[in-house]
Amino acid sequence: MLSAQPKASHFIDGAYVESDGDEIVVTYPYTGEVIARLHAATPEVIDRAIASAGRAQKDWAALAPVDRARVLQRAAMIIRERGPELARLETLDTGKPIQETEVADWPSGADSLEYFAGLAPTLTGETIPLGGDFAYTIREPLGVCVGIGAWNYPSQIACWKAAPSLSTGNAMVFKPSEVTPLGALKLAEIFIEAGMPAGVFNVVQGFGAVGAALATDPRVAKVSLTGSVPTGARVYAAAAAGMKHVTMELGGKSPLIIFDDASIEDAIGAAMLANFYSSGQICSNGTRVFVQKGIKETFLKRLAERTGAIVAGDPLVAETQFGPLVNRTQFDKVLGYIETAKAEGARLVCGGAAGNEGALFVQPTVFADVTDEMTIAREEIFGPVMSVLDFETEEEVIARANGTEFGLAAGVFTGDLARGHRVIGQLQAGTCWINAYNLTPVQMPFGAVKASGLGRENSRAAIEHYTQVKAVYVGLNPVDSPY
Ligand code: NDP
Repeated sequence: MLSAQPKASHFIDGAYVESDGDEIVVTYPYTGEVIARLHAATPEVIDRAIASAGRAQKDWAALAPVDRARVLQRAAMIIRERGPELARLETLDTGKPIQETEVADWPSGADSLEYFAGLAPTLTGETIPLGGDFAYTIREPLGVCVGIGAWNYPSQIACWKAAPSLSTGNAMVFKPSEVTPLGALKLAEIFIEAGMPAGVFNVVQGFGAVGAALATDPRVAKVSLTGSVPTGARVYAAAAAGMKHVTMELGGKSPLIIFDDASIEDAIGAAMLANFYSSGQICSNGTRVFVQKGIKETFLKRLAERTGAIVAGDPLVAETQFGPLVNRTQFDKVLGYIETAKAEGARLVCGGAAGNEGALFVQPTVFADVTDEMTIAREEIFGPVMSVLDFETEEEVIARANGTEFGLAAGVFTGDLARGHRVIGQLQAGTCWINAYNLTPVQMPFGAVKASGLGRENSRAAIEHYTQVKAVYVGLNPVDSPY
């Protein structure tokens, strides 16, 4: 029998804490087995978490940045040492294949901790000469930050929010999605083991109401949310009422544009990564694949062959490339979109039904002859469903690619690099790739425009979103007062 039961539901002030809130039943998506039972935070638990972060933040911020960095580096080292064990936990929590969770999830979280541990001690202010007098600036932490995560990359999301936040002297209260609550608790344990003072990083579990309570608490300076556009709009409005800083990493319907001079095998590989990795449950996925007319049928034929060879099955088996969806709700939603696509006249190239490897599998699915008006070309599905649309000219495809409320990501495949840059320059998206897709190294800013969000994670850009500038005018002359 599988079990991943943590000692208790929440991690506050350096220790596990239990509460008697609503039950959260955690299941392994592949078998449906219950692997943990947790409880949502009560108002008292939420209060304790924020209070503990508030207390710890002051001393943490007072440390020299290199001393904070050392703790984050140690945490990254522990994550790397425990790679297989943490990957297994992530697979149990999400159902994603172990061959993904071993290389993508926690390792990318460790990258983030290492990167911000290196970067934060190099941050300095400015000195501004004013002709006799001068001014200087100090980059200060915001205070207590709240992180709220989605269920698709639970541990990576926790690390991506914790690393820039904690390295710059903030404390954090993190609420994972109730669908995948386990990884963030491990991260809290690892931080303590690495020498982080109690209270700097706290985890509380719960449903949307817990996130809402965190986002509206007056002691909280910032809310960083990874989630859907409707939730983002609600949390942004709630944060605005308290004049809080926000980072919003929300959903997308990103275009992947393939010109007829592209390497077709590379473009197909990228389109598959952009739709089938993590069974399609990735916000930045290139789900609208625009293929130039001349290569359309060749592209579809090879795509169907390669998609047919995907190995679906038991996520804990090393050879498995494709796992189930995270839960029944998501499974029903994705199959619903597939039926809508058929009813609206899209041409099914492959897949198009539930898989027979387990209860929550949906076959990797490709629809061709998709038009801009079809539901599957407009709405985020968050499952393994690729829409192939055809186009003739560069101008046409740019206009169509931008014809969406979303603006998270975009990709272009072409043998003509000048065209690649020209097209990317006109696409409305925060994160773009030329002849690549969905690579998100920590050195590169990640984020969105339009309804897909604001603020940036990763890279130097994230520092701007977890710190504020204090300006100090220093008078060296007699005060020139008319009074
Ligand atoms: P949701 O928007 O449903 O939930 C996101 C988080 O917000 C959850 O922890 C949720 O809790 C919480 N929440 C819900 N309501 C509120 C509220 N009123 N106030 C505060 N917090 C609240 O997203 P999903 O978990 O379903 O994740 C899928 C979505 O996330 C997709 O749209 C996807 O595109 C997006 N996403 C974006 C990424 C990016 O970086 N841009 C990356 C990954 C995913 P609970 O789950 O308990 O309801």
